[in-house]
Amino acid sequence: MKNISKLLIGTNNKGKYREIKDLLPKHIKTHSTSEFKLKSPREDGLTFTENSIIKSKHFSKKTNLICLSDDSGLEIDILNKYPGIYSARWAGKDGDFIKAIKKVYKELDKKDNNWRKKKIKARFVCALSICNLDKNITSVVGKIEGYISNEPKGKNGFGYDPIFIPKNKKKTFGEMKSSQKYKIDHRSQAFKKIKKFF
Ligand code: IMP
Repeated sequence: MKNISKLLIGTNNKGKYREIKDLLPKHIKTHSTSEFKLKSPREDGLTFTENSIIKSKHFSKKTNLICLSDDSGLEIDILNKYPGIYSARWAGKDGDFIKAIKKVYKELDKKDNNWRKKKIKARFVCALSICNLDKNITSVVGKIEGYISNEPKGKNGFGYDPIFIPKNKKKTFGEMKSSQKYKIDHRSQAFKKIKKFF
């Protein structure tokens, strides 16, 4: 799998596409799913890894290109790790993350009225899978631990970034510059593990 010269980034999420492109070595020519007008497959896996495999296999088959896909999300411990693999689905068909964040706060209120006075443990998880042309698959997982902010803060990033404060930091991902976030986030942790395959 060494010396990959071209690669499909198997995601229809623009925020993720940008992040993944920024993390890849510059000599790799990247393609997006929108160039091929590809729809995403049904993500019926039970783990982040299963869903990343479903996506990379699907997009590689449709394009005959090596495909890198990610599946990621936010796990909140007292919500039994929800939204987890349902992170995108909590934002509904239109990808409305104001709605998804409201749902997080509603579920936390239901669980514990006093949650704002406590440290609510959470983590972002990212599974990456590469589907090679011989259908061989490599998967890795990266994580970043942290807490849920009492209120959404910051306009940077995407998704749940405004409510996630990484461990030992004061700012949410939404308040950080993207360069600061990329150094520590779940996707870059996963990339460190998968880099040797490029
Ligand atoms: P999926 O992997 O396409 O199923 O979507 C995962 C969802 O998790 C995304 O739509 C985001 O809302 C959320 N998510 C994953 N990574 C991040 C991140 O770095 N920041 C904020 N939200 C994220």
